[in-house]
Amino acid sequence: MIYLYYTDKFQGYNFGPEHPLNPIRLALAYELIEESGLLDSQTMQIRPSPASEEDLHMVHTLEYIESVRLELPDLAFGLGSDDTPVFPGIFEASRIIAGGSIDAARRMLREDCSTFNLGGGLHHAFPTQAAGFCVFNDVALGICALKKRFSRILYLDIDGHHGDGVQQIFYEDPGVLTFSIHESGHYLFPGTGFVDEMGAGPGLGFSVNVPMPMYAGDQDYLLAFEEVVPKLFEWFRPQVVVAQLGVDTHYSDPLTSLNVTLTGYTQMVRRIIELTNKYACGRLLALGGGGYSLEVVPVAWTSVLHLMRNEPLPEYLPPCWVELFSNMVGGEPLTLPDMEMKPGKETQKRITSELSGTLQELKRLQSAIHPEIF
Ligand SMILES: [Zn+2]
Repeated sequence: MIYLYYTDKFQGYNFGPEHPLNPIRLALAYELIEESGLLDSQTMQIRPSPASEEDLHMVHTLEYIESVRLELPDLAFGLGSDDTPVFPGIFEASRIIAGGSIDAARRMLREDCSTFNLGGGLHHAFPTQAAGFCVFNDVALGICALKKRFSRILYLDIDGHHGDGVQQIFYEDPGVLTFSIHESGHYLFPGTGFVDEMGAGPGLGFSVNVPMPMYAGDQDYLLAFEEVVPKLFEWFRPQVVVAQLGVDTHYSDPLTSLNVTLTGYTQMVRRIIELTNKYACGRLLALGGGGYSLEVVPVAWTSVLHLMRNEPLPEYLPPCWVELFSNMVGGEPLTLPDMEMKPGKETQKRITSELSGTLQELKRLQSAIHPEIF
């Protein structure tokens, strides 16, 4: 069984009309999933309840939780910045998203299933601080809940930005292997996620980062993914996989400078599912994440659900949904396969050379700690 987490209350997580994180993207994704006939006997929708204070405290300090509850700007807690402004209802909306990922994880303690929280993936939040549009770190909360049953949890983050909050929270924990592939911190928020961030103490070697060159596209992403991720599965033998599936790597995304297409994105997701089936009994906790192009997000995350259901990706979108999209957004959504992005020869040469250096350095550093991985 696949449990899909979505409620109209996710629309309340709204930083305002000028903010890039437009909650309409989740509503459009949900509508497309429904119009595609995916809410059937194989996929059950769950409308999550807000996480309790006790649950939030698995990751966040009581002072920080209290500060969010007050709904007042307080930059000491990261609240009220341009990225993460305070809005009325921020506490409730953030708790509902966190509640989705926690409930999804707890369901996976009781039964072998996979889950997908469309509103989840808020990977930048820290225990005492909001950051990068993220208030509560639902990813880390889900992982903490999974620890009740599982001792080897693999976290895969393919969002365009580094999964810094999740990495930091489990930085010393060898039971949680975090992997993040993202546009290099030299060019993009949050400015971290370099190959030498490898974990600490007993967790040394259990944080893995692949910073990608600017304008990296499908072939670069798939090459880096294949060089690293299957080897992590083989070595770590995860019992469960948590995946942050942000789609702000897309060439049309306004916040990043990458060239991944929907075709490349779905290929990466397909591999995550294949590897999870092979090594972790198919136990996948999938989460949304970034993605600021409204033409892309609904199609991307509906494709994720098709892949989780082991179905081929449809070539056409339901006409009634296309009409809904035109009414709500204007214009037309993208369909699969979308345009292939080929940078100029010189740019590709630079990308290939930078990436090859990054992968070499990653393997060199990792082989000093865990020589058996690569
Ligand atoms: Zn992102």
